[in-house]
Order: sequence, then C-alpha cells, then structure tokens
Amino acid sequence: MTRAAVKKHATKPLSPASLSAYLVGGVNSPVRAFRHVGVKPLLLSRSLGAYVWDRAGQRYTDFIMGWGAIILGHNPPRVMEALKKRLSLGVLLGLTHEAEGNLAEQIARSVPSVEQVRFTVSGTEACMTAIKIARAHTRRSKILVFDGCYHGHGETLMAGHSAGLPQSIAEEVVSVPFNDTETFDRALEHYAPQLACVILEPVAANMGVIVPLPGFLEHIRKQTQKHGIVLIFDEVVTGFRLGLGGAQSHFGVQADLTTFGKIIGGGLPVGAVGGRKALMQRLAPEGDVYHGGTFAGHPLAMAAGLAALASLNDQPPYEKLERLGRMIVEGLSSAARSCQLPLQINRVGSMLTVFFTDHPVRNLSDVKIMRKELFVQWANGLRKRGVLIPPSPFEALFLSAAHEEGHATQLIRESKKVFSEMVLN
Ligand SMILES: *Cc1c(COP(=O)(O)O)cnc(C)c1O
Repeated sequence: MTRAAVKKHATKPLSPASLSAYLVGGVNSPVRAFRHVGVKPLLLSRSLGAYVWDRAGQRYTDFIMGWGAIILGHNPPRVMEALKKRLSLGVLLGLTHEAEGNLAEQIARSVPSVEQVRFTVSGTEACMTAIKIARAHTRRSKILVFDGCYHGHGETLMAGHSAGLPQSIAEEVVSVPFNDTETFDRALEHYAPQLACVILEPVAANMGVIVPLPGFLEHIRKQTQKHGIVLIFDEVVTGFRLGLGGAQSHFGVQADLTTFGKIIGGGLPVGAVGGRKALMQRLAPEGDVYHGGTFAGHPLAMAAGLAALASLNDQPPYEKLERLGRMIVEGLSSAARSCQLPLQINRVGSMLTVFFTDHPVRNLSDVKIMRKELFVQWANGLRKRGVLIPPSPFEALFLSAAHEEGHATQLIRESKKVFSEMVLN
C-alpha cells in the first residue's frame, strides 16, 4: 500500500458494517451486540464522569458504567493522574513491582476473609484459579453453582452454556436454583463428599440483580463448613461496590476464597483471587496449583486500581449511592404504577435491575417469566432520549459517584415518558 492509500484507508469513517466485517459479530463481548434489544451495536468514542458519547457526538447519561467496573465515574482525576505517573515510568516491567503488594494489602485490609491475594488479568481467570485451588485443597473435583450466576467463561463454568467443551465436564458441575436452600440441601445429601467448592455471586448480577433472601448466604456458609467444601464468593461485581468489604461485609458472611475484578482495576483489565493464607499458599511457587501470566499484576492496572481504592477509602461514596439508588427505585416504581405497568426492581446499593413482571424475582425461573418485550421498548426508548442502560434484561444498571440527583431524575423522567408511550402501543 502506498502512503496515500494508507492514509485514505485510515481516515475512512468506520461504519458498523465494516466493524462486523472484521470483528466477529462486530464486538469482542456478545452483550455489546445489542441483540437482546434488536438494534445495531452502539459505537462509543469517549467517556467522562456520568457520561459517554457516541461517534456522532451524541451524549448519553451512562448506567452501564463499564458493566460495574466504574464506581467513581468515568476517568476520575485521581486515577488519571496515577496512570500518567505510571506511564512516565514504564508500561510493563516483566518482574514484580511495589504497587502489586500495595494493592494486595489494600484488598486484604478491606475484606476480612482475605489474607493473601493473587492478581490475574480478568475475573474469568480469577474464578478459574479459585476453583483450581479448591480442588487441590479438597482433592475433590465437582463444583456446585447456582443457575443464572456468571463466573466468567472458564471451561467447567461454561458447562451447558457453550459448545466446544468436553462432554465429561457436565459431570463435574452440580447446578441448583439461587435462593433455594431446600434444593441446595438435597444436592449436598447426594454430592457433598465429591464437592470441592460452592461458588456463587453473593448478590447475583448476571441474570439481573437477585438479592439473597435472608438466611440464604448464612445457610450456605454453615453447610459448606460442615461438609468441608470450599466456599467461593465471586465478588467481581460486588467487591468494593457494596462497601469496602464487599458483599461479605454487607451481609456479614465470610467466604473461604473470594474473586475480584472490575472495580479493583480502576477501569483497566484485572482480576484477583484472595483468601486465607493456608488456602492461597496452594498457588505456585509456594504450592502445586499453577497460575501465572505475562500481564498478571500489570503496572497500569495496579496503579489505576490503587488510586481507585484509595479514593473509595478517603471519600466513600456508598451513602450517596444508596440514596440515589433508593430515589431511582421509588421514582420508577411510581412511574410504572401510574402507567399500570408490571414492574419489580431488585436493588442492593448502587446495582439494580428493573424486571417487567408482577411477581417477585428471586431466581432464574422468576427472571424468565418477565415481559422481555417491555424491557426492549424501555431500553430503546431511553437510548433515543439520551439515557444508556445495559441493552439486555439480564444485566444490572450501575450507579457511580459521578451520578447526581439530576441524573436519577433524568432516568425517572425519561422512563415515565417511555412508559406512557409503551402503554399506548
Ligand atoms: C464480569 C464478571 C466475571 C468475569 O470477569 P471478566 O473480567 O469479564 O472475565 C466473573 N464474575 C462475575 C460476577 C462478573 O460479573
């Protein structure tokens, strides 16, 4: 290619069509394809505070917030400063650097059940690693999961949800409904001696937000302890979102191993597994469970994560987030009532999901009976009005410290307009 040809090529505006010519489905993560709401993927170019902008310069108030990774708002000055400083010192070192220890200490100081930490590059990898530790520790191989919880796309965890897996994997996974202690106990009667771990999102966020019923987490804790099963809390979403101590501090139930991701990278790719020293020492080089990575503990992610957690420590946004969350639930509920639309909102702190149904939503079966077509109208209507929510009814809306009452009011006001149009249709 000549220089002129290269230049011409490079300046050609990128159309969504050319995106899907070279990227599978036009995306690198399926939910970004907007298939649930039946429209073309939105292409974003910029973010700041509570906003994102598309390529045409249209601004949206953002309630996706990096799928939960962003809690301080987009590009908070403190995190950006830390990144600039790190950039000036070098991007990748290839050996260990101080910030890895500092971020591990910060996490261990915040989450009571965590003594030691191993950083990964993604939440997926953190969950895979936690399960490996549990299997090595117990010398058992089966795992118990809850229908609708998501722990990334590690092989065992994808059993029944993806093609391309060995058939034998399904035999390693026992799956029961969330919030159902009876079925859980029955599964234990059968499988307890074979179970290496029970893994769950203490507040489910990937089938929409599902709040644990009172006593549910406590029951699982008691039973896993009794049967010598490792309890893994996947706090990739809830870690540092429901408070500095995550869901386990919020609900007062401690896990044996905890996985993190999202928030702890301050917007950069990261994951971590943490727990008591005795368990964590199973990892190489101390123990016989292998985990490593070229980019594990990446200097930029550590710098951004440290700055983000320092900011959460110094100026905890949690009370404000609680207040905004409550305001949104009240506003949307009242708007739905006045339009006689069926609506349930599940919320803990700054994470919430709106389900278009009359019934309480406590597990995946409840989720499935919602009126998906109403969600589609709501999401598409909001987007046309400059408000961006996840383009799937199985995701959570996330609030950040950059959201103000005005943003909550905007969401409620625009939803009310969309609701009244929905009723007319
Ligand atoms: C996002 C997520 C993961 C996977 O993290 P990635 O960094 O996307 O691999 C795991 N568990 C939960 C609960 C998540 O929400």
